[in-house]
Amino acid sequence: KELVFSGVQPTGNLHLGNYLGAIKRFVDMQARDAQCLYCVVDMHAITLWQDPAALKGQIREVTAAFLAAGIDPKRSIVFNQSQVPQHAELAWIFNCVARLGWLNRMTQFKDKAGKDRENASIGLYAYPVLMAADILAYRATHVPVGEDQKQHLELTRDIAQKFNNDFSESISAHGHDAGSGFFPITEPLIGGPAARVMSLRDGTKKMSKSDASDNSRINLTDEADTIAAKVRKAKTDPDALPSEVAGLAGRPEADNLVGIFAALKDVSRDEVLRDYGGAQFSAFKSALVELAVETLAPLGSEMKRLVSDPVEIDAILADGAERAEAIAAPTLDAVKDIVGFVRRG
Ligand code: ATP
Ligand code: MG
Repeated sequence: KELVFSGVQPTGNLHLGNYLGAIKRFVDMQARDAQCLYCVVDMHAITLWQDPAALKGQIREVTAAFLAAGIDPKRSIVFNQSQVPQHAELAWIFNCVARLGWLNRMTQFKDKAGKDRENASIGLYAYPVLMAADILAYRATHVPVGEDQKQHLELTRDIAQKFNNDFSESISAHGHDAGSGFFPITEPLIGGPAARVMSLRDGTKKMSKSDASDNSRINLTDEADTIAAKVRKAKTDPDALPSEVAGLAGRPEADNLVGIFAALKDVSRDEVLRDYGGAQFSAFKSALVELAVETLAPLGSEMKRLVSDPVEIDAILADGAERAEAIAAPTLDAVKDIVGFVRRG
């Protein structure tokens, strides 16, 4: 049976890229015959300093975004990472499986650490190992994420494979099927027209929570007039829209706006260009504003309503954590046996 896991960091400023590249697809996954776990990864968030006075609010806001988007907390398991201790426990064991050379190749660390790499936290460096633990604590088979997480998912597969190999004898000795491996080799689900939503100010940079310019992104809680202003100011080139996808090559800003439109409307880029090929950006942007507001206005107001009642949100997270732990705890018990730890009777 399929098991789906994914997470979003409570680092503030949830944006359209998070929605189209991740959260909207989490909702779609619920239609499959699969158990879905959606996690607010607060332990990942603190790899960069977070204001403790703000963090709780950010955790509740991501939870609210999940719920407002249509994730059903009865059918799916919605929880925050720090309430389930197995994530950190498995991450330590994986720290001893993953190789320094593998982590040295991770581009997100290089981007986030910037020039002052000596001063980055060990947590930021080990981030992808914790992510592997998030996924494999549930032995998840499918992980829907944006394109930027592709390299981390490859690392997750490498860690699973190396654990399965390094401990193959012990895995069989403990009655698990060593042939199929103890950990599954997880399938990344990356795709659709919004797998990589770009900054509205620079078509070569990913739309990101941490971009200093608020005009670079559409936040999920932006009001209609703010959305309109940001789309109108979005960088474009002087040409009209092409009539075929091939014509978007070398035009990152045009490609981005067409991709966003397609994802919001649940159609392909080709279909968008069938309707808007030859149109000027001014006309296309007006249609995009209308579509974005139609989707985001109800989402944003439902998020605001939900965060106004932290008691209800915290109860959903507590219930989710209990159900998540019920899946992760037996995995960790088995892992500790496989590794050779002496267990309490
Ligand atoms: P941060 O800058 O703090 O890393 P982020 O915007 O990258 O924030 P994350 O919490 O790291 O957000 O990622 C949550 C999910 O959103 C991941 O699946 C990630 O791939 C996806 N995602 C993030 N940015 C984009 C984007 N611009 N386009 C598509 N998907 C994205
Ligand atoms: Mg990120």
